[in-house]
Amino acid sequence: MKSFLEGVINRNKYMCELGKVADYIPGLSTANKNHLGICIIDTSGEIVIAGDADVKFTLQSISKPLTLMLALLDQGEKYVFSKVGMEPSGDAFNSIRKLETGRMRKPFNPMINAGAIEVCSMIKGKNSAEKFERVLNFIKLISGNNNLKVNEDIYKGEKETGNKNRSMAYFLKGEGLISGDVEDVLDVYFKQCSIEVTAIDLAKIGLFLARGGVLENGDRVVSEHIATIAKTLMTTCGMYDGSGEFAIKVGVPSKSGVGGGILSVVPGKMGIGVFGPSLDLKGNSIGGIAVLEEIAENFKFSIFN
Ligand code: GLU
Repeated sequence: MKSFLEGVINRNKYMCELGKVADYIPGLSTANKNHLGICIIDTSGEIVIAGDADVKFTLQSISKPLTLMLALLDQGEKYVFSKVGMEPSGDAFNSIRKLETGRMRKPFNPMINAGAIEVCSMIKGKNSAEKFERVLNFIKLISGNNNLKVNEDIYKGEKETGNKNRSMAYFLKGEGLISGDVEDVLDVYFKQCSIEVTAIDLAKIGLFLARGGVLENGDRVVSEHIATIAKTLMTTCGMYDGSGEFAIKVGVPSKSGVGGGILSVVPGKMGIGVFGPSLDLKGNSIGGIAVLEEIAENFKFSIFN
């Protein structure tokens, strides 16, 4: 398996040249566009890594399904989906237009920025610091990595440049969809985007979802239903507006982030973490997608097969 994965990385590495790293903040623009790595962990606990699997990067949008699970634990499904939809938007992750013109009058889903910010407002805690600490602790728990922390430089960049996110959050507040202080909600969002992980951490989180919300030691953290909600939204909306093509070509619940990570889940079988900061036009890791396509083709693991 290791030599197969190394082959996959080598065969697809040229793809990295075809994309470009996120450059909306300096902390992301300095990423090495040629990095490409993968980690796969199956339900027996066997870990296989290849390429740049131990390079750190920030979670960015991969945090969205994770915070969603915590919000579902905190507030319940009915409340959460009264304020955010379950439908693909067909627009870019940071698009604002459907907030006002869409028939739903709420963000289309929790995987786009407006929906994710809405979800951050639902996390319980007496202030923004406590809310974020609960998010971080939840992600530490499901990744089995107690050392996870915020990359302060990226966090600062997100906060300084996040005016589009800020405008969406204030719009949501104006619509009565966010309660509490908007800047506090945004702070939780910017920090969760800035949590540093490796492909290995993502594979562990993927395994947690593959096991339906159960840790490797058998402890249940979220109900099977909550894990299913996260996996379903990852399938329909997890790869930005490239989710449909990805579902056909790879066919497993996945979430990407502009830091270059992709979290993938083969339900009941394995968790996969991929890292490659060179992005395609939709904001997905260009090498990462190529790697997942080859693996999916080889193992025939699409959930739609
Ligand atoms: N921090 C980014 C933003 O909110 C996340 C983008 C992403 O990974 O999609 O714009």
